[in-house]
Amino acid sequence: MTTPLVEMDGDEMTRILWAMIKEKLVLPFVDLRTDYYDLGLLNRNATKDQVTLRAANATKRYGVGVKCATITPNQQRMEEYPELTEMWKSPNGTIRAFLDGTTFRAPIVLPFLKPVVKTWEKPITVARHAYGDVYKAVDLRTKTPGTATFTFADTDGNTIDRMVQKVDGGAVWLSQHNTENSIRSFAESCFRYALNTKQDLWFSTKDTISKVYDGAFKEIFQELYDTRYKAEFEKLGLTYFYTLIDDAVARAIRSKGGFIWALKNYDGDVMSDMIATAFGSLAMMTSVLVSPDGVFEYEASHGTVTKHYYRYLKGEKTSTNPMATIYAWSGALRKRGEMDGLSDLSAFGDMMEQACFDTLSGGVMTGDLVGLVEPGFEARAVDSGAFLDAVAARLGELVRG
Ligand code: NAP
Ligand code: MG
Repeated sequence: MTTPLVEMDGDEMTRILWAMIKEKLVLPFVDLRTDYYDLGLLNRNATKDQVTLRAANATKRYGVGVKCATITPNQQRMEEYPELTEMWKSPNGTIRAFLDGTTFRAPIVLPFLKPVVKTWEKPITVARHAYGDVYKAVDLRTKTPGTATFTFADTDGNTIDRMVQKVDGGAVWLSQHNTENSIRSFAESCFRYALNTKQDLWFSTKDTISKVYDGAFKEIFQELYDTRYKAEFEKLGLTYFYTLIDDAVARAIRSKGGFIWALKNYDGDVMSDMIATAFGSLAMMTSVLVSPDGVFEYEASHGTVTKHYYRYLKGEKTSTNPMATIYAWSGALRKRGEMDGLSDLSAFGDMMEQACFDTLSGGVMTGDLVGLVEPGFEARAVDSGAFLDAVAARLGELVRG
């Protein structure tokens, strides 16, 4: 490797898997150069979370990062780790805000693990806008009769006033916003990622009802497409299409999959859970954060698998599924190879995934997947270490050719 890969270590069971993946699947085969950041909770605390910002900075500088799942502390964690001086923010949130990125989540699809929707042959990748709308809204519940108005004051002192509603009793209110810059970055990341992965891009909102608000999302996407991306899409035979969210939901269910579905913040939150569940397992969901200027950060969608970690601490060999974390590594190595013109490194990323596929196809898998396979497919559950050993053995064969 020439340019270092930004490596962000994490917490609990995924930190254990991380070390195993490096030891068994990466270091024996790759002359690995990483710029390492320990985002484990205790080191974030010791560095007053500066390590997260340093990692985000390095990712921006080098262009590719790979991240392990990390604990986002809550009240319960504050009690579990009395040394915490603050309830540190989600590292993913910090990195996403720093890179102004969009997260793309896609399931790993296998022929013997059929999705609930039988027509889906290929993964559906959900791109969720991660800023604003109801997540940054101001809401209010009132008890008395009255009137709500809506005022915008610009920096020159001009104001725009709108009557919202007059009510004669208790009422609930919500005021939300988004910014043109954020919508534009979101659109930019979506077009880029579609070109990068050579998949069609769908975008859907409720612009028939929300004509101005959702209408602006639709317009910004269309304008960027027409002025910057149309030619490249056409050259690759890809389509961008906008449709009403109701229509998109119906089409998605009837589709064969194999496209990117861009969604507003709330829609993406809901739809990504539906897609993940319908494709089988959270342990098989990959995730990549893409910035509008083309920085890529790979990770698993799931968390640190705390329950398994406690069993591991008691000396138990757990059958935690490392697939999504392996795919974070394979994705990152492949991308690093592409950016640096190292075709062997990119080919190695493909081989890691092929080795996983072959191992699973041979019926060797972690416990979570055994119950999900098609009837008649013979599967046996092994612990994480044994699964990784089997993948490593197959990877060795593939590498030797
Ligand atoms: P989780 O770690 O995703 O695990 C929830 C449950 O899903 C597990 O108990 C397990 O079910 C199953 N599962 C998830 N991944 C699995 C895998 N690889 N193999 C097998 N089973 C798997 O979610 P959580 O327990 O709600 O959160 C734990 C911690 O992770 C929290 O501190 C949270 O802040 C953090 N988190 C981090 C990220 C991130 O860094 N991207 C994302 C989400 C959550 P069974 O117990 O039934 O086997
Ligand atoms: Mg959700």
